[in-house]
Amino acid sequence: MRIGANAGVTDPGRRRRRNEDSLVIDPPLFAVADGMGGAQAGEVASRLAAAVFREYHEADALAGEKRVEAIIQEANRRIYERAQHDAHASGMGTTVTAALVEGDRIALGHVGDSRAYRVRGGTLEQLTQDHSLVADLMRSGRLTPEEAGTHPQRSVITRALGTDPSVDVDTFAVEAAAGDLYLICSDGLTTMLGDEEISRIVSEAADLDTAARALVKAANRRGGEDNVTVILFQLEDGESPGLEETVALSADGQGDPEELEDTLTGLEAPVVPASPDHTTAAWEPVGEPETRSRARAGGARRGRRIIVFVLALALVAVLLLVAFWGLANAHFVGAQSDGRLAVYQGLPYDVGGGVSLYRARYVSELRAVQLAPEERAALFDHDLMAYDAARVRLERFEAEGLP
Ligand code: CA
Repeated sequence: MRIGANAGVTDPGRRRRRNEDSLVIDPPLFAVADGMGGAQAGEVASRLAAAVFREYHEADALAGEKRVEAIIQEANRRIYERAQHDAHASGMGTTVTAALVEGDRIALGHVGDSRAYRVRGGTLEQLTQDHSLVADLMRSGRLTPEEAGTHPQRSVITRALGTDPSVDVDTFAVEAAAGDLYLICSDGLTTMLGDEEISRIVSEAADLDTAARALVKAANRRGGEDNVTVILFQLEDGESPGLEETVALSADGQGDPEELEDTLTGLEAPVVPASPDHTTAAWEPVGEPETRSRARAGGARRGRRIIVFVLALALVAVLLLVAFWGLANAHFVGAQSDGRLAVYQGLPYDVGGGVSLYRARYVSELRAVQLAPEERAALFDHDLMAYDAARVRLERFEAEGLP
């Protein structure tokens, strides 16, 4: 088996100024890394990982999963060391999802929530399992896939490179077949597009280059809330790994100027909540102005209407007070997008368009990746409670996990 065409695109998306994703197209190696961390640390982490894939040759003598694991462990070591010694990089991390094509096998290595898919016979199949909070909750039956799509902590990963001296890497191999198409992507694609949509776009595209661009464009049209990275490669019959066509688009992470213009539209656009216009329209039940001849007869009726109107207003005011009181006193434990645990005030829902019904009231230095799976399950059930109760709940884990 050999590698036929391949293509890759990375794009900042519509809402983020920086691109913290990196990609590696170095056949027979392919990888996507999605960095996290304050300031520019996320970019540093994902680029360190990508550099190891390109430059680290100590693992060349190893084969298959062993080689992929060795490269990922080396990347982890370098990011971890940098994070220990560079105050600006402290707490940084990255996902990585990598594929190595070797004869009739594809070895895969995976940490975090970037994904590898295979398209065989027109059917898209996800090969990797996300190491993320929502994937944990779905596996334990606490969350449906629909709920997971709008979950406030959907971008929180439970495993990353750079947070510990060594990392638990998922490695496995799949058998290669001619015509197989592989897709490696960051969550900026999969949080915007469902599997069916990804499958349709890939099957309708004339070639891999067009498919990769179309996927990124579709994610941006859907909101482009995160950086989007896509790698596609296809296998064909043949002896040695061939390189008929290598298209690495915008590998600097900046996007090409034409796409970038499209992408930056709306970057600075403020979030506009749903227009309240029709609520005011609903509060005009007084009706048509009455003619003078009917005015006296209508007087009593009008009086009753005014009473009903005032009562309705009072009811709305009471409901609003109850809602505000509820929001002010409801708290739940969650995690920031960089993985730090937090106590949020409000309700655990995103209503779309970047509007959330909650805000962080306390952010801990403890990260989701530092907890055991059962601890995370216990902590992230989104039970609503008073602020003090939420803090107490978090303190127990902070006492164990923080120096
Ligand atoms: Ca991401």
